Amino acid sequence: NSRPAVSVIGLGPMGQAMVSALLAAGHPVTVWNRTASRADALVEQGAVRAPTAAAAVRASDLVLVSLTHYAAMYEILDTVGDDLGGKTVVNLSSDTPGVTREAARWLADRGASLLVGGIMVPAPLVATDASYVFYSGPQALMATHHDTLAVIGRPDYRGEDPALAQLWYQAQLDIFLTALSTFAHASALLASAGVTAKELVPYAAETMALATSMLEDSARRFDVGDHNDDGADVVMMGATADHIVGASREAGIDAGLPEAVKAQYDAAIASGMAGSGWTSLFEVIRRPRH
Ligand code: NDP
Repeated sequence: NSRPAVSVIGLGPMGQAMVSALLAAGHPVTVWNRTASRADALVEQGAVRAPTAAAAVRASDLVLVSLTHYAAMYEILDTVGDDLGGKTVVNLSSDTPGVTREAARWLADRGASLLVGGIMVPAPLVATDASYVFYSGPQALMATHHDTLAVIGRPDYRGEDPALAQLWYQAQLDIFLTALSTFAHASALLASAGVTAKELVPYAAETMALATSMLEDSARRFDVGDHNDDGADVVMMGATADHIVGASREAGIDAGLPEAVKAQYDAAIASGMAGSGWTSLFEVIRRPRH
């Protein structure tokens, strides 16, 4: 077999999908999971079950880790000892950028290297055309393992700082989770008057398309600090946010999300940005006053 060997530690839905894809692509795969039975179906597909995490690490130069958080990685790799020396650990678990940087140092102290991965699709879409993965860490290692990692999704390398992949991952989920929450909130607002969420769908899609159409110009404004009034000034937008808060309270639904938005406009006005465009929120968010 000419394909490089891979070990995978952590067999939740994501780890299992990665192992299946690597096996299908012809890689020898060794697996280990705290709950051993989660490897059963993968062993039937051709994976080798390692008796210990250390054995899994010994089996391949490339060790993929897919766990709930980085704390689980420490718990597991603490038991591995010297076998970590020379290994490339690719951690595809979610956590904060700071935790990620610390993990790079922790592994370096043990002679291992860390590539950080942030995989941007759910388990059923792993290894499909939709799958892409942010990576950061040593560029040379990225080049070495590129083709193997490409099996689980298109690698999108963001730079040497290990935190970068995690930052990009969290930034994308920041947009995704907030957009989903606003849709849930707007649906609840209409539901208070007996309107179904289904009726909202085409209107919501139009509003999301409008927001999408504003990304390029907003990004330019954020990047150069140009917050001239573009027709959506902070006073007008702040009043709108206030009305969403009021509508939510009248409807008896949770108002936390519009309150958070309103607070950003209030802060912009309090900082003397009353005549500016809504993009001045970028400055308020970047430099919050405590
Ligand atoms: P989980 O986040 O539920 O991770 C489960 C795995 O972590 C299992 O293998 C579990 O072992 C192991 N684990 C957790 N704590 C420990 C511990 N203390 N010691 C040893 N093992 C531990 O499953 P997913 O597969 O869904 O996600 C994996 C990572 O991928 C997460 O960081 C997630 O945020 C990220 N991700 C997930 C996506 C998704 O759609 N699911 C999409 C993109 C990223 P055991 O089986 O023994 O419990």
